[in-house]
Amino acid sequence: MSLENFIAGLPKAELHVHHVGSASPRIVAELAARHEGTTAVPADPELLAEYFTFRDFDHFIEVYVSVVELVRDAEDVRMLTYGIAEDMARQNIRYAELTVTPYFTLLKGVADEAFVEALEDARHSAERDLGVMLRWCFDIPSEAGPAAGERTVRIAVDQAPDGLVSFGLGGPEVGWPRPLFKPFFDEARAAGLHSVPHAGETTGPQTVWDALRELGAERIGHGIRSVHDPRLLEHLAEHGIVLEVCPTSNLATGAVASLAEHPLPRLVEAGVPVTVNSDDPPMFGTDLNREYLVAARLLGLGAAGVGELAKAAVRGSFMGDADKSRLTAEMDAYMGEHTFVS
Ligand SMILES: [Zn+2]
Repeated sequence: MSLENFIAGLPKAELHVHHVGSASPRIVAELAARHEGTTAVPADPELLAEYFTFRDFDHFIEVYVSVVELVRDAEDVRMLTYGIAEDMARQNIRYAELTVTPYFTLLKGVADEAFVEALEDARHSAERDLGVMLRWCFDIPSEAGPAAGERTVRIAVDQAPDGLVSFGLGGPEVGWPRPLFKPFFDEARAAGLHSVPHAGETTGPQTVWDALRELGAERIGHGIRSVHDPRLLEHLAEHGIVLEVCPTSNLATGAVASLAEHPLPRLVEAGVPVTVNSDDPPMFGTDLNREYLVAARLLGLGAAGVGELAKAAVRGSFMGDADKSRLTAEMDAYMGEHTFVS
């Protein structure tokens, strides 16, 4: 069995993957068909596959914006979410914390209650039909500023859906310092949500320090630029702050110039707990299985090493202890059956 097949069959958890950013051509075709006549996005799967073939960062933004535009009502939210769970099930992803950005859909006039109900419906169906456990991280799109922070914390705290475990901050880092969003994180944390902002993807270690000190970050989205500050690396290692590393995304967005220069090996060497994630998989032409293969090459790992990396995602997750034990036991059983993989 090849390492590729081993990874495909391995039960996995994913901690950094975006809701709209996970819409595969198949899902977008369904959404486009629902809104035919009022969208420029093709509903034909073959045309869509071409539309989706990753070219560069501008193309990613174009596709992303066009999918955001297609999520107009609660039924779209339900279809998108359940469709993502189907794609995850095909990769043997058993648990995912999906980063959802309610702000743009709410702006279209979807009521908070309807938005949350659609997500929760899809979550229950996914767990029942597909064996995929979904949890939510509601995140603020930084580029929409404090107004988006206020709107996002309102739906998070007032609706408090059962599946919501954390509060995040995405979008650009440049021009949007993390401390600007402190009041919203304070409120979300006071309501019991974990803090998981993006930081140190495109800007330096100071942004990661800000995320830790000002936003109370328990995990960091990306955080790869931490390599430039030995004291920060020590801090992350000592406090067990998990980095959600997304190698192909970093290459696609230009956060790293080449995979050969990716800081993942240096982070591991410094003892920082890392996990492997896909970020916006179809839009970057990847999926979680591929990211594990990329990480295995970067770190020189065989099957056993990849299995340990997959277990780190369970440890770093916000699932309950019973679920953690169950999923880890499943992973161990799978690894035990495939000890011959080199
Ligand atoms: Zn992200």
